[in-house]
Amino acid sequence: MKELFQNADWKKEKHTPVIEVAAGAGKKRLIEVAVSVGKEIPHPNTTAHHICWIELYFLAEGEKNPCQVGRAEFNAHGASVQGPDTSTVYTKPEAVFYFNTEKPGKLMAASFCNIHGLWEGEADLGLV
Ligand code: FE
Repeated sequence: MKELFQNADWKKEKHTPVIEVAAGAGKKRLIEVAVSVGKEIPHPNTTAHHICWIELYFLAEGEKNPCQVGRAEFNAHGASVQGPDTSTVYTKPEAVFYFNTEKPGKLMAASFCNIHGLWEGEADLGLV
């Protein structure tokens, strides 16, 4: 399955999830992590072509397995009883997750485009 995950610089590839850690992440503070798709180059958001979900994982330093921090589903993509792209409701593929940890480690995001498949992105989580 790992061969199905695609990876590229998010500044050049609109599918790569972007992970942004809010300033001040620390052992005694709530950690805020925003994950989005299409930050630099917007991804289409239509009934026919859209981002379905994003998941965020955290691998603490020295651990073998990651924790799943959360998952966000994006379920409105313009469809209504009148047909595709008629509802005017489109969920933006962006989510903010909050969690605590006392260990630094690696943040990993996965996203899924209904046309272009699975994508991954990574970021380090350092703690003050
Ligand atoms: Fe796509």
